Amino acid sequence: MPEFQTTPGTRDILPPDAARWRRFVDVFAGVVESAGYEQIILPMFEDLGVFQRLGDATDVVTKEMYDFVDKGGRHVALRPEQTAGVCRAFVQHHPNLPWKVWYSGPNFRYEKAQQGRYRQFDQVGVEVLGVDDPLLDVEVIALAHGFYRALGLRNVELHVNSLGDTGDRARYVAALESYFRAHEIDLTKESRATLERNPLRVLDSKRAEDRDVISQAPSISEFFSPEAASHFAAVQDGLSLLGIDFVVNDRLVRGLDYYRSTTFEFVSTALDAAQTAVGGGGRYDGLVEDLGGPSTPGIGFAIGLDRTLLACDAESVFGIDSSGTDVFVVDATGGRSALLLTAELRNAGLRADRAFGAKSMKSQMKSANKSRATVAVIIGEDELARGVATVRPMDGGEQSECPLGQVVATVTDIVKKAK
Ligand code: AMP
Repeated sequence: MPEFQTTPGTRDILPPDAARWRRFVDVFAGVVESAGYEQIILPMFEDLGVFQRLGDATDVVTKEMYDFVDKGGRHVALRPEQTAGVCRAFVQHHPNLPWKVWYSGPNFRYEKAQQGRYRQFDQVGVEVLGVDDPLLDVEVIALAHGFYRALGLRNVELHVNSLGDTGDRARYVAALESYFRAHEIDLTKESRATLERNPLRVLDSKRAEDRDVISQAPSISEFFSPEAASHFAAVQDGLSLLGIDFVVNDRLVRGLDYYRSTTFEFVSTALDAAQTAVGGGGRYDGLVEDLGGPSTPGIGFAIGLDRTLLACDAESVFGIDSSGTDVFVVDATGGRSALLLTAELRNAGLRADRAFGAKSMKSQMKSANKSRATVAVIIGEDELARGVATVRPMDGGEQSECPLGQVVATVTDIVKKAK
């Protein structure tokens, strides 16, 4: 075994998988930019305090943060998610409202690594600041839904819930706490510990022994103010209008403390692992204020790239792009012709590759095959002497000779026809 390996919870994304990752982000950018969202690139580490505003009952903050004191004595942390960074940037730069942004990139959480759960994992997501309109909630949810569709996924269920406004949420948490306290004896040890930190999160328990107590717990809907109830009704109405199927799941509370009002999660029914949530989000009215900004409503979602690709594998969609290069130049005359020709072909916008090290013609043809090129351009001593090249379609089509000055045009033609 080599001395150094990736540390637990991290992975190398090798070719050709890495190209699939990039395509994933490209598809996402296409979907959200068509709705007026612009890209934001945030630092990967920030002042620890930025993330602490996510709430001290949030596991991500209290138990899973990668934080350290840097050489300048600053207490910083690798970002566990990007919503807090977006809100910090909003407070720092005062952009015009509404601010509609999208992001992609890695986040870091010290979690128990397993299939679909990593310590460094990628997300794509959007945030909108400055609008408190339920139809925006519908737009945001519809974008995530549309993105899963664009990947080709069919078995993704949408769960929606509302956590009410701040007052509703507080009254609900109090009621939930007294309910769970009354039934503490029937809860698992883990859930009793969760109850101490955050009664809402007890609802997240997947442990069979907790199921009965949880199923009888009060529902948030009993605590909705009239405004919260009508906001949630408008969200459901908008989703129906767009023909987006959803289930109302009043046990959906989500991991981060800052959520208020609309919350949602996308669950892959094609994944049978423990980790089936492929994305989620909600409203977080209050977070901008907590970061020192003016009272500003916000909503967003994050989609787990790693896990969504596992769902794609399970549904056999959005596969690895197996197309190779367009053209491979085989030069049996020492390599100078290949140097010139690949430069010309690349300048013309073609994907062109070649072999190095003055390999034999046979070995270069093998490399051409491996590169899955559409066309091979072959130059031997004889061709060079006559100022021509042999152009050979790799699908077995008829090969031809053409003057060196016409190679680019001939190859372009064949590549175009093959597409
Ligand atoms: P969250 O930021 O916790 O709301 O998570 C949003 C999505 O990110 C989840 O639905 C997952 O798809 C993904 N995700 C969260 N944590 C991890 C992790 N440790 N490893 C892989 N994906 C994750």
